[in-house]
Amino acid sequence: MSTKPRKHPGKYHISQRAKQISPSGIRKFFDLLASTEGVISLGIGEPDYATPWHISEAAIESLAKGYTMYTSNMGMPELRQELSRYLKKECNLGYDPNSELLITVGVSEGLDLVARAILNPGDEIIIPDPCYVSYSSCIILAGGTPIMVPTSEENNFEMSAADIEARITGKTRAILIGYPANPTGAVMSKSKLAQIAEVARQHKLLVISDEIYAKLVYGVKHTCFAALPRMKESTVLLGGFSKAYAMTGWRIGYAAAPAEIIAAMTKIHQYTMMCASTMAQVAAIEALKSGEQSASDMVEDYNRRRLVMVKGLRDIGLSCFEPHGAFYAFPSIKVTGMTSEEFAERLLTEEKVAVVPGSAFGRCGEGYVRCCYATSLADIEEALSRMKRFVDRYKKEG
Ligand code: PLP
Repeated sequence: MSTKPRKHPGKYHISQRAKQISPSGIRKFFDLLASTEGVISLGIGEPDYATPWHISEAAIESLAKGYTMYTSNMGMPELRQELSRYLKKECNLGYDPNSELLITVGVSEGLDLVARAILNPGDEIIIPDPCYVSYSSCIILAGGTPIMVPTSEENNFEMSAADIEARITGKTRAILIGYPANPTGAVMSKSKLAQIAEVARQHKLLVISDEIYAKLVYGVKHTCFAALPRMKESTVLLGGFSKAYAMTGWRIGYAAAPAEIIAAMTKIHQYTMMCASTMAQVAAIEALKSGEQSASDMVEDYNRRRLVMVKGLRDIGLSCFEPHGAFYAFPSIKVTGMTSEEFAERLLTEEKVAVVPGSAFGRCGEGYVRCCYATSLADIEEALSRMKRFVDRYKKEG
């Protein structure tokens, strides 16, 4: 009989897949933050605005009228019609509202659905490193394997087509990209995206493009990946309302893709979610019809904050890549000699400023922290002065 101590199996049987993923490195920080007084948070990635009132009002009115039932699994026909018009206007793409659009519970659900719809056990999806925390977990939970493509500050945190191609195997099913990017704020140019499209075409791969930050760009243009020549038929476009319309809590988004993929995603959605929240769908219709001005006002404001944040970080002595999208700055903290987790923990306890360690987003995020500037200018300025004190204390000379 073996004398080795057996690892305690736990009281309940937990699946291998659930064991394989770790709790989000972001959430862990927020638990710590919630228990500390007087913290300025540059942590969580969401607008500090409330949803524009006309959008909330549309939903309130629908409740008053008694629109509280399930909708069609794919989403309200009126919302899909409106979305189809919107995608025509924004990306010049014609999606059939009856077969090529699915209303989801945020991009979060869209990511999960597409992974489950296309992966068999052991199949691979290529993703950037660092990237949004859900990408690899959704792939693992669907039985697949995430294959990371390293990106770096030197290359503007863009995925290179050559690096992607070098990782393609017989098991590769898709390339998952997310630009404008969380956590770096990087935006990929049309010409670089076209190189990725070329690789996808040559290898007959699907591209999943998470464009939740499409509207949040500063001084550059966002390229809708599906609008690149001949890419509509091999792209799953994921979009949402959370960021551009300050609607994180409504939990509403969409997928636009070839009918066969939407049909597979809809089956899973049907059995797990039934439909997205009815009142959120009504709010989304209003956002698409009349939310443009509110969204662009917020973007203008984010841009002012972005300039203050990036300049402030550089003035402190932290090198900071110029973010052209989303609402994150991703400064290097290597001058302090700390790991990004140590930096974030000590900054929180010593100076009460919450940032997210870059390592929460992948190995290539080590040496950086994510600072979200979707917060008031006064808070950004106070956070920067606390960070200056902190960095001055620990900066290694030389
Ligand atoms: N994709 C990216 C890149 C994100 O940063 C986030 C949220 O932070 C999401 C998806 C999730 O979006 P949603 O609120 O639509 O589920």
